[in-house]
Amino acid sequence: MMIRRLRKIVSRKKDNALKDEVFTYYTAFYDPSAKEPHCNCKICPGPENNLELLTIDHKRKRTKKDNLSGTSLYKYLKENDYPDGYQVLCFNCNFGKGLYGRCPHLWKDNRNGS
Ligand SMILES: [Zn+2]
Ligand SMILES: [Zn+2]
Repeated sequence: MMIRRLRKIVSRKKDNALKDEVFTYYTAFYDPSAKEPHCNCKICPGPENNLELLTIDHKRKRTKKDNLSGTSLYKYLKENDYPDGYQVLCFNCNFGKGLYGRCPHLWKDNRNGS
């Protein structure tokens, strides 16, 4: 079990280094005091800082290039000197935004809205 887990980590190390670099850049872009990647949503509790649960969010309307995802997206961002219009969001915030245009932490406020 241990060995299998280790092997998985080693084979993913290279991709994670790139991911870490890209996410650290965009996190620090909006939060200069950040020392590690975290969700850029201001109301995300925590905020989420597990790299596995973070995604790159396209702040603008998607263009053809934005069909990239995962490692090819990280490569694209790095090779293009980290263009504007991207931010780091956790899956919750990103998914919530995609569904209702707002982060899921705001849904609760809506429901309790009295
Ligand atoms: Zn979040
Ligand atoms: Zn959020």
